[in-house]
Amino acid sequence: MQITVLRETQPGESRVALIPESVKKLIGLKAAIAVESGAGNDAGASDADYEAAGASVSSDRAALLAAADVLVAINRPPTDDIARLKKGAVVIGFLRPLDEPETLRPMLEHGLTAFSVELIPRTTRAQAMDALSSMATIVGYKAVLLAADRVPRMFPMLTTAAGTVPPAKVLVLGAGVAGLQAIATARRLGAVVEGFDVRAAAGEAVRSLGAKFLEIDMGGQSGEGAGGYAKEVTEEVMERSRELIAKQAKQTDCIITSAAVPGRRAPILITEEAVHNMKRGSVIVDLSGTTGGNCALSQPGTTIDVNGVTIMCPLNLAATVPVHASQLYSRNLTAFLSPMIKEGELSLDFDDDIVGPSCAIHQGEAKHPRLQAALAAKS
Ligand code: NAD
Repeated sequence: MQITVLRETQPGESRVALIPESVKKLIGLKAAIAVESGAGNDAGASDADYEAAGASVSSDRAALLAAADVLVAINRPPTDDIARLKKGAVVIGFLRPLDEPETLRPMLEHGLTAFSVELIPRTTRAQAMDALSSMATIVGYKAVLLAADRVPRMFPMLTTAAGTVPPAKVLVLGAGVAGLQAIATARRLGAVVEGFDVRAAAGEAVRSLGAKFLEIDMGGQSGEGAGGYAKEVTEEVMERSRELIAKQAKQTDCIITSAAVPGRRAPILITEEAVHNMKRGSVIVDLSGTTGGNCALSQPGTTIDVNGVTIMCPLNLAATVPVHASQLYSRNLTAFLSPMIKEGELSLDFDDDIVGPSCAIHQGEAKHPRLQAALAAKS
């Protein structure tokens, strides 16, 4: 069985799906690994490193695709690449089956099998495979560095001969993996931090990091849905959230937003009016741009200035830390793939509680119920 690693083609992408350390492990399971020349260049892995780990390296992308049994990727492969794969080949990556189901049609039509790392259950057994958490950790960390770099203040409180400098105030909206990492990073830099989430369970995690948890009256509703994820809350709760956030935003120097509900547009938590009432020099880093953004004024992929307030909405912050992002992702993929490899061949057991749920498409048929529903609704 050949596992293939290609150069990612999405603009700005610098990560690679497998690093040499993982290549060695997979070869130990009798898989053959083929790598496109230059695939790991930005992620600190040269062609020579891959060869030393036992992979074959080639510049012939078309031949690599034609021979691939398993294509491991970061982003969904472009349609041209999909067309070159063998019917029945397996693709693994961030395929975005829930928020962009239509884009999976070429894989369906080409009879592929596709596993989406976003669908891997967030269970204890699957923790080592949790690529969403790996990337979110990097994104949350980097967002704070971007904010700290842009805001015209320092983060820590300093007592100097010229007087005392108060600490910066940071508000983090959405206390999932990215939000909690943002809180931890801002705290390490010395900021005073507040966190907000609709899941009551997030409160304990926020407080354990030394931040204050902002609470609203949920009107008896739970913000927690299946699998520990948030669910969509009522408009009344959203309104209360926006009011509280607008009030806090007036005194905040930086807001980092990461609120998301899987498969839905990101909730709008910061209104245009709230932005207009923020102090000049304040910074918003909106991490939910791929699903529309948490701030009404965010422009995904760009940075704008609104009356002295900077609104950044980066779309791929994980790619700005390619060495560690690739290392973590590669380990996640290796943990996911290894149990499926028997005597060097892929053996798919759909009754397995990780393999079954993470499969979006099997041999050209939509397998995941939410993908099936989304595609049926559009056809
Ligand atoms: P996510 O990216 O789906 O969402 C980010 C955060 O936004 C979540 O905390 C969510 O509650 C919050 N949110 C949604 N709507 C909101 C709103 N209207 N206002 C404010 N906040 C809102 O989440 P994630 O980082 O992928 O984590 C999702 C869950 O999975 C969390 O409970 C996390 O602790 C859990 N998790 C478990 C494991 C594990 O056990 N292996 C691993 C990682 C994450």
